[in-house]
Amino acid sequence: MLDKVLIANRGEIALRILRACRELGIRSVAMHSEADRDLKHVRLADESVCIGPASSMDSYLNIPAVISAAEVTDSVGIHPGYGFLSENADFAERVIESGFVFIGPKPETIRIMGDKVAAINAMKKAGVPTVPGSDGELGDDDETNIKIARRIGYPIIIKASGGGGGRGMRVVHSEAALLNAISLTKAEAGAAFNNDAVYMEKFLGNPRHIEIQVLADEHGNAIHLGERDCSMQRRHQKVIEEAPAPGITPEMRDEIGRRCAQACVDIGYRGAGTFEFLYEDGEFYFIEMNTRVQVEHPVTEMITGVDIVREQLRIASGLPLAYRQEDIHINGHAMECRINAEDPDSFMPSPGTITAYHAPGGPGIRVDTHIYNGYRVPPYYDSMIGKLIAHGESRDVAMARMRTALSEMVIEGIKTNIPLQHDLFHDSGFEAGGVNIHYLEKKLEEKGK
Ligand code: ADP
Repeated sequence: MLDKVLIANRGEIALRILRACRELGIRSVAMHSEADRDLKHVRLADESVCIGPASSMDSYLNIPAVISAAEVTDSVGIHPGYGFLSENADFAERVIESGFVFIGPKPETIRIMGDKVAAINAMKKAGVPTVPGSDGELGDDDETNIKIARRIGYPIIIKASGGGGGRGMRVVHSEAALLNAISLTKAEAGAAFNNDAVYMEKFLGNPRHIEIQVLADEHGNAIHLGERDCSMQRRHQKVIEEAPAPGITPEMRDEIGRRCAQACVDIGYRGAGTFEFLYEDGEFYFIEMNTRVQVEHPVTEMITGVDIVREQLRIASGLPLAYRQEDIHINGHAMECRINAEDPDSFMPSPGTITAYHAPGGPGIRVDTHIYNGYRVPPYYDSMIGKLIAHGESRDVAMARMRTALSEMVIEGIKTNIPLQHDLFHDSGFEAGGVNIHYLEKKLEEKGK
């Protein structure tokens, strides 16, 4: 087992990683910015080191500073968490070159998955279903591109191969707008991602977002832990996640899950990962793979009993997976609310000092958060301050427990999105299950938000 791990992240995920390290007897090092001295995991870690000023560019995204932190603390492994440097292939490479263990996949794998055209090609080869599209990067020949779009059928979407975070995409409804849309997206992609490769896909009108969690070790073993439904989104940001996804049968789960696990073996994947799909009319369409732990991993942990972060640490230590596919059973239903420090109406961030905090509890309730009474939420980072997770033997029970937990949770001194979450858990459409990715934005529009 790794002897000492540098936690190259902040907030709730840093605390989550620290807890997993503790359970495995791994010594932990918290690295933090000047604005983050008071983070809970910094206080709990075996050692801590300040790596730079508040700005992420100068701290959590500063590769030399992170590597130095590992060096001066004699760390063995580096856990990148999510966001920040977690999907940066150059960082993973530097970690390895500097003699540390990167807790994640090989840099080559991260690089392939960060390039959407390469990722889609790898998935096609491995038999994972993808969106009907251009079979790779679009060339410069207008006639060919017009033909490709006709074959796919309008509406289509032009996407940047190097895009991310919902940027670098353009929907085209008719042939008249096609060529202009291609050149605009190319120009934007070149400027924003330093890579002007674009490709074309069928635009799905009302899909759901369903993703498959996988775990793979260095010894050629790979399993899936079922799916999550993350369709409740605003501006491509997930707001509520649940597992399993409403309406997905065990046979469907088995079929798509096995394909993903097999793809991991085919591409030599290592660690925890997520295959993201759009799901429409009973079909799964691969859109991208995330090569890191996801914010929403707890809902999968609650229904499978597998500690995903512990598995990441075991896999990075070179151990074989602790589970075979037949050991994985789905038990009940779990839901997660992201708790953000933001105005529930305007969605403006609301940093500041938490003057009172009371966590909910009771059967099936889990709270993953770094906040405490008196903690000051800094203005420099993502507004998510925690996650509230509810598990029960059925979706109805999980929802009832979440409603109770939301009504018990008190966070004073700053604004939070708890009122919005409360509304959503009393929404009849969401209660029925299986809403699509546009549901929340439509609902907010109707309310005039
Ligand atoms: P990013 O890496 O920027 O998040 P994705 O490929 O994951 O890009 O797409 C982000 C979002 O864009 C999806 O969750 C979906 O809402 C929308 N989208 C992407 N591709 C399609 C498509 N072919 N049809 C409909 N919507 C799409």
